[in-house]
Amino acid sequence: MSTIGLIGLGNMGFPMGERLSAAGHRLIVSDGDGAAVERFLARNPTTRPVAQPADWRGADVVITMLPNSDIVESVLLGISGIASAASFNTLFIDMSSSDPLRSRALGQALEQQGMRYLDAPVSGGVKGAQNGNLAIMVGGRWQDLEEAKDIFETLGKSVIHIGGAGSGHAAKALNNLVSASSVVATVEALHIGVRFGIDPATLTEVLNASSGRSNTSENKVAQFMLSGTFGSGFPIGLMAKDIRIATGLADGLGLKAPFSHDCEGIWQSALDAGHGGEDHTRMYEILAPTNSFEDERQINA
Ligand code: NAD
Repeated sequence: MSTIGLIGLGNMGFPMGERLSAAGHRLIVSDGDGAAVERFLARNPTTRPVAQPADWRGADVVITMLPNSDIVESVLLGISGIASAASFNTLFIDMSSSDPLRSRALGQALEQQGMRYLDAPVSGGVKGAQNGNLAIMVGGRWQDLEEAKDIFETLGKSVIHIGGAGSGHAAKALNNLVSASSVVATVEALHIGVRFGIDPATLTEVLNASSGRSNTSENKVAQFMLSGTFGSGFPIGLMAKDIRIATGLADGLGLKAPFSHDCEGIWQSALDAGHGGEDHTRMYEILAPTNSFEDERQINA
């Protein structure tokens, strides 16, 4: 069992830390929010909080589960960064959903400091984090993945090695781009069907029996959209962030990706309208048509 440093005890990091602790790993934890650390220590009494930078020297592995690349870099790099306090050859694993091109550069920066780096973002949400059912996409050296395998197997049900550093983060963002596109396409099709007089439950049945079938049609429409519960557990703000990472990757690689940018615009509008904290399945309501071309022609006349 290893000594694991865990930074970020939010919605995801907290239950992931609990699973690692329950599996017998020694944890040292840190979070910008002191109350989150207190809550974690109260439930996991063998855990130690990080009191001073030298405490990081005891960690074999340091996991970050933080909001974005800006924060991951600010926590790890620089004179007061954890990488300069940790022991030589420490394995850093960024499990946040970060920016792939920046992750590639972060991996190189850490290697120059004599450290090792994997990016290992996850899919499966808070429930997946609680139950150890996450899908984990790993970028970096396979030898480092092998070393971290027992950690990943405690947290997830599938561990896929994608390629070099940053490729886990690329795969995660691209997966969510496809998922977000399917939500928008499915919701628009349902609303067009409704306008024509087709019951959305019936159209969903058709999609699920035909080539329009997707995770959205199978696991979101009836369960969270038509039921009005909107409780899949993944908010619009995080989806919009992941799409931005994917389109930023296309831009950074000099690719146009017009459909992806359109998709980004649709989710960004929902974010700008103040829906960032709401479940992403609420797009069924947010994208409900308010008027038609006919109405618009009359309004503009
Ligand atoms: P969260 O906002 O609930 O938690 C982030 C934690 O980081 C908070 O506890 C916060 O206090 C801490 N933090 C912020 N800045 C810090 C700093 N400078 N130093 C130390 N701690 C700091 O976020 P989350 O939902 O746990 O998501 C974490 C990551 O996982 C994100 O990158 C997110 O995109 C990704 N993710 C989330 C989900 C989900 O369903 N919530 C699913 C998959 C991936």
